[in-house]
This record gives sequence, structure tokens and C-alpha cells, in this order.
Amino acid sequence: MNKILMVFFLWVILAGFACGAGEGASRAIVTTFYPIQIAVMNVTAGVKGIGVVNLAASTTGCLHDYQLTPRDRAILAQADMVVANGAGMESFGESLLRLRTATRIIDASAGIDLLVTEGVTNSHVWLSPTRHIRQIQTIAAGLAAWDPVHADSYRANASRYEGELKALKARMDRELGELRTRDIITFHEAFPYFASEFGLKVVAVIEREPGTEPSAGELAALIRKVKASDVKAIFVEPQYSAKSAEAISRETGAVVYNLDPVVSGSVSTSAYLDLMEKNLLQLRQALK
Ligand SMILES: [Zn+2]
Repeated sequence: MNKILMVFFLWVILAGFACGAGEGASRAIVTTFYPIQIAVMNVTAGVKGIGVVNLAASTTGCLHDYQLTPRDRAILAQADMVVANGAGMESFGESLLRLRTATRIIDASAGIDLLVTEGVTNSHVWLSPTRHIRQIQTIAAGLAAWDPVHADSYRANASRYEGELKALKARMDRELGELRTRDIITFHEAFPYFASEFGLKVVAVIEREPGTEPSAGELAALIRKVKASDVKAIFVEPQYSAKSAEAISRETGAVVYNLDPVVSGSVSTSAYLDLMEKNLLQLRQALK
């Protein structure tokens, strides 16, 4: 990249920080991806002098194979604080640490009970509302320690948002508790925390790694599994191709629904709550 372009690039990023924080922006909090961006927007709402900037675009989805871009590196170079999901989601974590050791980093999943399947830690912690509340508390405590002047605001915001998440969780418990079937088939390994929270059973996962379609043999095995079970619904994620799910649906008669892992969408403080409401509606339709 030539020098003029680079200067322009940095100017755009810095202007972005300033706009995000309003008048007198002084400190930049960088979030690694969408669910953490939404969480930090809630905890920092209304706090003057703080700008929240997300590394990955809000359309990226999970960060499983994410590589830092030149834009990401420029953003990180300006960061005063980085907030990460942790639990292995940021596989570029090491390079992130090497990039700027002076930057404070909050690991939102620190101290949370993590699920491990076949030796691999599942990183989709935010999909359990109870664990997500812990993430919110960890983020608020970390920001309060880093920026004591606004500590009360971070804590008040966190407790307001925690109340909203608890109300959502209570409604989901109630409505999902009434469902007749509890067996589901999902796309990639995003839903174990969600399923364990709401007593659903993930009978099969169609794609283990995003972007890798199952082989013909694996697809045939999945079709046999669905036929042998009483699974009536397959849940696909809006971020991935529904091709395999549709093939299984054709062969078995199971209906395809959407289940959103909350890794992309509109950038607003209510985004997590809104997407979980949509998931609740889809599950009620599919499993009634
Ligand atoms: Zn994922």
C-alpha cells in the first residue's frame, strides 16, 4: 500500500473512533467480533470519551480461521483496550498479544465453565444467556478497573443489561420448557452451550468446520441418523450455505429452520436480545 493511502486509511480509522465516541473522544476500546461488540456497546452506553471499534466486519461470523488484516493491525495499534471473547475463539490471540503488549486485554470468558468435546474447547460461550451474563460482568469489572472515573456507569449499564438478559432467559426457559420434542440437528458446533442451557439435545451436527461440506458418506450417515431418530427439524445458520441441510430435508422430510448463532447482524445494543427472540420463535415453530 502506498504512503498516501496508508495515511488516509489511518485518518478514516481515527475519525471513526472520534465519531463513535462523540465530542472529545479520547480512548478506544477494540472488540474482536460481533457478539463482543454488542456486549461492550451495552456496557459503555452513554459513557463520554469512549469509542468502540470492532475488528472483524459485522458480517464476518465466527473467527475460527480468521487472519488479522492490515486494517485490523492499524486499529489495534490505536487501541487503548481490547475486549476478546476468549475460550479459543480468537485463534490469532497470540499475534494479537505480540502486536501490542502494552494494550490491556479483557478475556470475557475468564473463569467461565467451558464445554469440551473430544478435547476441543467450545468457544461459543455467549449463546448461553447465563454464561453471557458472566461475560458482561467480567467486561464491566475490567473496564471499571481500567477507567475508574466511569466505573459507576459501567456497573450500572451492566446491571441494567443483566436484568434484560435474565428476563429473556426466564421467558426462553418457560416457552422452550413447553416443547414436545427436544432433539435438534444444527450447523457447525455453535450450539452446545445454548442446548445445555435450555435442555435441548443436539443429535447431530451437519458441518463441524465452517465452510467444509460433509462428504457423500458423512451425508448418508446423517440421513440414516435422522431417519432413525424422531428429529423433525434441522436448524441452519444464516451465515452458512444450507445445501447439506436441504439434501437431508429432501431425503428425510425433516423441515429446515433458522437458528442464529449471533455472530453477525445489525449493530445495535438490542441486537443480542432481538436475535435470541427470533431463535425462540423458530424453535417454538419447529418443535411444537
Ligand atoms: Zn463458530
